[in-house]
Amino acid sequence: MAKIIDGKAISKQIRDELRIRAGELLEKGIPVTLAVVQVGADPASTVYVNNKKKGCEYVGIRSLSYELAEDAGEDELLCLIDELNRRADVNGILVQLPLPAHIREERVIRAIDPKKDVDGFHPQNVGALCIGQPGFVSCTPAGIIQLLRRSGVEISGRECVILGRSNIVGKPMSLLMLRENATVTIAHSRTENLREVTRRADILIAAVGKPKMITREYVKEGAVVIDVGINRSADGKLCGDVNFEDVEPVCSAITPVPGGVGPMTIAMLLHNCLESVNLQL
Ligand code: NDP
Repeated sequence: MAKIIDGKAISKQIRDELRIRAGELLEKGIPVTLAVVQVGADPASTVYVNNKKKGCEYVGIRSLSYELAEDAGEDELLCLIDELNRRADVNGILVQLPLPAHIREERVIRAIDPKKDVDGFHPQNVGALCIGQPGFVSCTPAGIIQLLRRSGVEISGRECVILGRSNIVGKPMSLLMLRENATVTIAHSRTENLREVTRRADILIAAVGKPKMITREYVKEGAVVIDVGINRSADGKLCGDVNFEDVEPVCSAITPVPGGVGPMTIAMLLHNCLESVNLQL
């Protein structure tokens, strides 16, 4: 039977460590503040934003909320970001994505001061990751590295296949695995003989956004399987990109959905908020 990698428990461990660090900073007179900006009231975004605020509260990070109307203009949002960039008492800025269609996401991401970009999406932070310099790392991939390390999974020298090449998951994930000395392959919708490629993996990371797509035919026996997907199956239930029931018997370790990668994303956001203090010294 495969080991179930418990993201909930590992995320709690990290949040407890961060809580101690936040307390130490506060004792030194350094409070940490995250500004959370939401445009519109998309229900899924509201759930994510509330979970992030709850996480802040637990760790002892002050969170400031900015809620802009769905029809707020791009300039209004850029103006707010400019103000938050200038405020010395704001360490991190998070603009909840996706934004309404009339706002250019790329422009907004670029407007955030890279030293306050706790999501790690600014091109300067992405570039820093690419050349191994300090900077913020996108939270979901950073969380996956923590999941692997804290579960005792050896990364160095192993074959890692990442399924998906998005800017927020697949690409930064590949750079992090490379940094950990894995041999990395990135697969995507144009990859030929996909199953042959994924079956090479000692560590398979699925970030495709296709409910239960990964069945045991894609998995080498004894592989570690990380499921990033958050999808709704036909019956409306939350599920990952991996068909858990089918894959679990053939792999050595696997993350469940929910309770795997998801909780790690917020833990790493909180981690980045505390790191922001060092970057801003
Ligand atoms: P994107 O839609 O941006 O990227 C999906 C990637 O999968 C693309 O690179 C695409 O290839 C590839 N792909 C799609 N279909 C196939 C296929 N049939 N075969 C091979 N490759 C395929 O998604 P994200 O990276 O943003 O997210 C992926 C999943 O992770 C989603 O379910 C999302 O909800 C979840 N997610 C979870 C997070 C968490 O905290 N747990 C955080 C972020 C995302 P191509 O580039 O060629 O189109």
